[in-house]
Amino acid sequence: MTIDHPVDDRPREACGIFGIHNHPEAARLTYFGIYALQHRGQESAGIAVVRDQRIAFHKGMGLVSDVFDDARLAYLKGECSAIGHVRYSTTGDSVLINAQPFVINHSGKSYGVAHNGNLVNAHILKKELEEEGSIFQTTTDSEIFLHLFVKQLKNGFEEALIHAVSRLEGAYSLVLLTSRGEVVGIKDPHGFRPLCLGRMPNDRYVLASESCALDLVQAEFIRELDPGEIVIISDDGVKSLHPYKREQQSCCIFELIYFARPDSTIFGKNVYLTRKAHGRQLAREAPVEADLVMPFPDSGNYAAIGYAEESGIPFDLGMIRNHYVGRTFIQPTQSMRDFSVRMKLNPVKELLKGKDIIIIEDSIIRGTTAKTRVKALRELGVRHVHMRISCPPHRFPCHYGIDFSTTGELIAAKKTEEELRDFLGLDSLHYLTLPGMLAATGVTSPENYFCKACFDGCYPVGFDDSVSKTCLE
Ligand code: SF4
Repeated sequence: MTIDHPVDDRPREACGIFGIHNHPEAARLTYFGIYALQHRGQESAGIAVVRDQRIAFHKGMGLVSDVFDDARLAYLKGECSAIGHVRYSTTGDSVLINAQPFVINHSGKSYGVAHNGNLVNAHILKKELEEEGSIFQTTTDSEIFLHLFVKQLKNGFEEALIHAVSRLEGAYSLVLLTSRGEVVGIKDPHGFRPLCLGRMPNDRYVLASESCALDLVQAEFIRELDPGEIVIISDDGVKSLHPYKREQQSCCIFELIYFARPDSTIFGKNVYLTRKAHGRQLAREAPVEADLVMPFPDSGNYAAIGYAEESGIPFDLGMIRNHYVGRTFIQPTQSMRDFSVRMKLNPVKELLKGKDIIIIEDSIIRGTTAKTRVKALRELGVRHVHMRISCPPHRFPCHYGIDFSTTGELIAAKKTEEELRDFLGLDSLHYLTLPGMLAATGVTSPENYFCKACFDGCYPVGFDDSVSKTCLE
């Protein structure tokens, strides 16, 4: 009997982070915070708390609910400050030692860090630090920040933070916990990944990747951190530092399209409403006659609602998700190859047979899952299958923390739109245009606000010697 992960070619986010200062239920609230951020990483989860002026932590492989129970949380009962993390590995192996928060002891104090993003200069910094004598415990780039930070502590806490961050290049939002109970939030100067600040009664402050985590712990959303901002939360209140020169803002637009939870507000935009706006724009750009509009749930749900509203074609749920498919199950044999995909979604035959349908998807990365689903629809007698995608084709890899880091993984980089339509077995296929995607966000000057490198190859931060801030097209 083989136990394996279900087949799924959906892109995956790197991590979700949470931090809370000065709350007697810090560990339990952090548990709920990372529970709300579970969609950002399902491989491992961890919580670190301040206890007896040291940092205690627990982390493990699996979902938040697998890693923590009442006994574990009771063990973590601490002194008012905590940070937490959920992880999907885009750098480093998927093993317990790479789970976060990562905690070190240095000169009688403890520090813990939880990180979301990807450092493009990690290999250079690690080599430099190892040549200076640093010994690394993990294979993640998140540990690098702590090595840089403690080396500068002789110059003071704030100086050490500013210096460490100045050496990092790429995408990073992180939270740092000190054994004095300070909680620090840091966002990179381009602002790739979301990180927001919230407040609870009695001036207790919270940091979280997305506002949905603030909602769950009943914290009031105050604001997103600015790109390049360091926020230090201590018993003296909230101190904000802006020590770096302004870079072009590059918020990851794919967070709005796919990664973030629809009930979150990130980068100043509600995710649900933005996805509906993309669906409406798609209906204007690529109309087609059909009996119904449907998503492959749950990814295309919100754009499909927008498409249906704009086109006047009824919205329906032609495929039903099995909500009880866990992360692992007994892997089907080779002769049952499409089984894993079918296990998740099943078409409603009586609704779809003989109909012309429009499927709305939020992206096609590797294309294998979409092909299997379209085949299933054909087999039950759907007459015409049209597909509309609520973003442009992914032709370029992401180097900022999303798990499609090579061009070879991207089917749109290898096939024309017509070849892809044929490969997927569709009657028609259209993507949202790049100008349409940007305009539908409602952001003024979106070109200067979003990273869209996976669509146009314009990388805001160079990732090796041969590619700097240039467009590849
Ligand atoms: S390349 Fe794409 S997925 Fe990666 S940060 Fe930029 S917009 Fe997001």
